[in-house]
Amino acid sequence: MFIEPSLTGARRGWIEVICGSMFSGKTEELIRRLRRARIANLRVEIFKPAIDVRYDEQQIVSHDASAIMSTPVDSSQQILLLGQGVDVVGIDEAQFFDAELPNVCDQLALAGMRVIVAGLDMNYLGEPFGPIPALLAQAEYITKLHAICVQCGNLATHSFRKAADSSLVLLGEKDAYEPRCRYCYHSVP
Ligand code: ZN
Repeated sequence: MFIEPSLTGARRGWIEVICGSMFSGKTEELIRRLRRARIANLRVEIFKPAIDVRYDEQQIVSHDASAIMSTPVDSSQQILLLGQGVDVVGIDEAQFFDAELPNVCDQLALAGMRVIVAGLDMNYLGEPFGPIPALLAQAEYITKLHAICVQCGNLATHSFRKAADSSLVLLGEKDAYEPRCRYCYHSVP
């Protein structure tokens, strides 16, 4: 369980990354941390890529339907502009952002903000996904979540694509992907 660092003395920012496969609960964990920050009367802003329009333009919606209001943005630079004056910046589906996102998060943290980034660490090919690897290198705190392999019941780290569509930006429809462990990802057709 992740414990938020205490904020004592001079305000210092930092970066947290929540990563893992699809269905590992990343968005739920992001929402949990943001709700706790709100309870602490911190100013919270949440951003997601405008490409992620699965359910609702204005909300982060996790698979268990616990939702929190968010702002869709076209580029990571917009987060820099819109994130001014807040205490905690949440970023969901961060794998879909451009390569400037790590730099943007660095600047926000330097300005004293707590930056919480959630995203897929690997695409369905098992490759590092977008800006997430660089963010993992920069982050003070990393949480890797696991789903459950639907083939064998062990911890799942991979997102196996069942659909034929080869687009990397096929978004998280439950029937297009399934979580698999390393072994089943490579050995089960
Ligand atoms: Zn398995």
